[in-house]
Amino acid sequence: MTTLLLPLLTFTLPAPASLSGAVSLLLLHLSWTSLVLSHHPLTLELVLILLVRGVFFLAPALALSALQAAGALAAPARRRPRGRPRKDGAVAPWVVVGKVVANLVAGALVQAAVEWVCTEALSVRSAVRVAVVWPGVFDLLAGVVAAVVAREVVQYVVHSQLLHPPHSSTRLSRLHQAGSHALAPTALLSHYDHPLPYLLLHFLPTYLPALVLRPHLLTFLLFLAVVSLFEALQLSSLRGLPAPFLDALLDAKEEHWITGGTRAFADLAILDWLAGTPGRRPASSYSPRKRVDSMRRKSKLLLS
Ligand SMILES: [Zn+2]
Repeated sequence: MTTLLLPLLTFTLPAPASLSGAVSLLLLHLSWTSLVLSHHPLTLELVLILLVRGVFFLAPALALSALQAAGALAAPARRRPRGRPRKDGAVAPWVVVGKVVANLVAGALVQAAVEWVCTEALSVRSAVRVAVVWPGVFDLLAGVVAAVVAREVVQYVVHSQLLHPPHSSTRLSRLHQAGSHALAPTALLSHYDHPLPYLLLHFLPTYLPALVLRPHLLTFLLFLAVVSLFEALQLSSLRGLPAPFLDALLDAKEEHWITGGTRAFADLAILDWLAGTPGRRPASSYSPRKRVDSMRRKSKLLLS
């Protein structure tokens, strides 16, 4: 484990100011090379996926959930329509955290298991390439964009057709409603669900693009980091972020929960827009400016 952690630390710790960019890059490359050469590719993939999920989803989601619980961020639950199933208060926070961690671990283990079956049992190549040579910057960015778009398609199909079927409920859709849609939303809720709908909605849309695109492990980890960070933000009520389109995307995801899953099925809202299921609220009911002001007022009250 030490041989895994030491090279990882060189990725996370800032390089001394005296080191030039080229030397820092060389050190990073040496650390990556030693990681790849000294560990089984599946071990490396599993550990790094869990690390990325922990850093880019679990840590920010816990912090944002704590702010929501303290009242520093507005709670979407207050706008929830009446008559929908609701269990807030019936599930202890530590149970929510435990279930989220279990789902994150389950997703990583299922990926490692599928990769093991591919490489060891079927003797075919793995979906994610673990290689010493880094991907080029263009390959890295193009790979992330392609994976995000492919994920959008799989996510839309799974979420709108399997977890919220348009005509009648199924056992699977009821599991999703009773899991993800039953609690008052917090930043953690993105990964709170029954394991079966969870794997369909979170494992499949990230793994299927990898099967098709066969990205470098570093490309896959960057894709996973972007996705995880968005998932931590989507039910956090945090608004006024630097990217102006982010507020609209986060509103749409919040709307999915508020409407009980009748619209806004995918994160980028492209297929929702094409299919006529966008998650936009009427313009009169939402003002990003007002929401930021309200958040600031609440923060001041909390600090005073
Ligand atoms: Zn849903």
